[in-house]
Amino acid sequence: MTLKGQTQTIPPRSGTAFTLSAGETLTVIDPEGGQVADLLAISAADTREMISSGRTLDYAETLYLSTGNLLYSNRSNVMLEIVEDKVGRHDFLLTPCSEATFRLCYDNEPPHPGCHGNLHAALSPYGIAEDAIPVAFNCFMNVPVDGETGRLKVLPPLSRAGDFIRFHARMDLIIGLTACSAPASNGGSFKPIQYRIGQDEFAR
Ligand SMILES: [Zn+2]
Repeated sequence: MTLKGQTQTIPPRSGTAFTLSAGETLTVIDPEGGQVADLLAISAADTREMISSGRTLDYAETLYLSTGNLLYSNRSNVMLEIVEDKVGRHDFLLTPCSEATFRLCYDNEPPHPGCHGNLHAALSPYGIAEDAIPVAFNCFMNVPVDGETGRLKVLPPLSRAGDFIRFHARMDLIIGLTACSAPASNGGSFKPIQYRIGQDEFAR
């Protein structure tokens, strides 16, 4: 259970899930700096409705989402609005790191369930199947894209200790959130992530 207004800590290389009501805010904090947090949003009313990278990037007309941008579902409903952002660089292209990520992308890393496995474990009580997990909004993940060639890189996050991104929920949601497990995404070291649920300061 997540207590409103209290800062919660997600230990390194793990994940959690909780409910977020319409009108509440969710603040995702990088307490030490340089750490990615994968965020999933699922409609509490119908768990087949989930956050959609494709729809969101299409409607936002940018790869780099920040304050004022809306995160849409696969049914084109607004799930979350970014209302404050201290970093300005997040990723919404790449899927959660997984056991296969370590097998295919890292030669010397022991297997790990990754964000995908951690999200599946955390969301299982809500009835979310592993294959249903979509592309997550990767808070603080730094994936610059070469506009000419399309080539992308995974670089260390730009977030510094205490930086945060804040979302306003536009519908009742189930949220999955991780402290990412992939070495390249996190500058080679694994740190915790913190989050806090707040009351509505952004009602409209
Ligand atoms: Zn990850």
